[in-house]
Amino acid sequence: MKELLVNVAYLVAASLFIFGLKGLSHPKTAVRGNLLGATGMLIAVVVTLLDKRIVDFTMIIAGLVIGAVIGTVLALKVEMTAMPQLVAVFNGLGGGASALVAGSALYENPSPDAIFVSASVASGIIGAVTFFGSGVAFAKLQGLMKERPIRYKGEQVVKALVAGVALLLGVLLVLNPSMLSLYWIMLAVSSVLGVLLTIAIGGADMPVVIALLNSYSGLAASATGFVLENNALIISGSLVGASGIILTNLMCKAMNRSLLNVLFGGFGEVKAGPEDDIYEGKVKATSPEEVALLLEGARRVVIVPGYGMAVAQAQYAVRDLFNLLESRGTEVDFAIHPVAGRMPGHMNVLLAEVDIPYEKMKELEEANPLFEQTDVVIVIGANDVVNPLAQTDPKSPIAGMPVLEVWKAKTVVVIKRSLSPGFAGIPNPLFAMDNTLMLFADAKKAVQEIVNALKEG
Ligand code: NDP
Repeated sequence: MKELLVNVAYLVAASLFIFGLKGLSHPKTAVRGNLLGATGMLIAVVVTLLDKRIVDFTMIIAGLVIGAVIGTVLALKVEMTAMPQLVAVFNGLGGGASALVAGSALYENPSPDAIFVSASVASGIIGAVTFFGSGVAFAKLQGLMKERPIRYKGEQVVKALVAGVALLLGVLLVLNPSMLSLYWIMLAVSSVLGVLLTIAIGGADMPVVIALLNSYSGLAASATGFVLENNALIISGSLVGASGIILTNLMCKAMNRSLLNVLFGGFGEVKAGPEDDIYEGKVKATSPEEVALLLEGARRVVIVPGYGMAVAQAQYAVRDLFNLLESRGTEVDFAIHPVAGRMPGHMNVLLAEVDIPYEKMKELEEANPLFEQTDVVIVIGANDVVNPLAQTDPKSPIAGMPVLEVWKAKTVVVIKRSLSPGFAGIPNPLFAMDNTLMLFADAKKAVQEIVNALKEG
């Protein structure tokens, strides 16, 4: 009877996870989705605590308190722009925890069967790869190590060899479950594999890698679910694994890259030609007053936000500009590139924070046909996502990435502080086009000044 109740509770938790994920697929329902998922997790945790042979509640409560304090401080302190690093840390800790739990379960089981040991091996290898891979991803995004991919001769062979040794150790452990030291050696080799796999990938591809590591952390948790015979862990791990791989796929599509190309292509190695050739004598600077004049005469305006809007925290000023223009009868839309900013949905979150209506946020496919009928496009702190080189230079590191074709509008105003490149480290010919005007300033300050000039004008 007790088992039935526990399983029903797990079923409810799993259903809440699934409805939660469904809710997270749209900004409008995301908050509800988050709540549903969190409720499911609460049910799963409470039921597990009440059901299982809990070792020691003092330890668990101590862990909860420490975790809650660290989590709260991080949530309050970490900047929106550092979210990818934080997610990397979360994934890594999830993978590491799975590997350790599976390892300790091996110690507790004096006569494990082959399935038990195989699940522990899977959890150990995937968990260690996830922990160390996420560590490298964190270090790259945090600027603690160089973002460029580290490549060397014969690297694929080295990686295949290390992966082969980890698997071999796993097989040996399944055959000799009493040789527990094999588990830790396998963990050490898998850790090296995690590092080798991630150092070969450039910083610009880290978001994809983080989504993939997220999927791995789910798989590791699911394998640990088999070790602990815990259905909730199996289901939630599989859901994380599946949603992580779907997100990875979506991000690859947004960058027009295959996953294999991301993992083995060494993105970020190629450098484009000297910037001077592209910009020399062709860049036209403008002022907030001039932009205000342009906007006064515009019927349709599209705003393209990018990473710089997040850095400058310009979303409030952007909202003021949006409201002012709409109140004057100008039609204003936002064009959101799927990888604008530094995390999936980054721009949507910032714009939702300032109550920009969802229907005003156009995705890439919807936005591109709009530009030809647009009088003024205002690019706010975006660079790579509006770079025509993606379409014109097959050697460019962003070649083939779908971009927002802002240059098709009558006039393009680009707000950024200098001609410095964006994340991909390449120049942008958009800045030198005939119909482009550069407003060199901090995004927040520039947009506020445009708003003031519009009000005065
Ligand atoms: P970019 O990184 O291409 O460009 C951002 C621009 O913002 C910079 O050129 C910078 O120019 C400008 N900027 C920075 N601070 C300010 C400020 N205070 N005021 C005004 N401008 C500022 O950003 P995009 O959003 O166009 O493209 C995102 C890039 O990041 C893509 O290459 C994508 O692949 C990558 N990426 C995406 C992730 C995601 O999941 N969304 C995660 C990680 C990477 P200047 O210094 O001259 O001001």
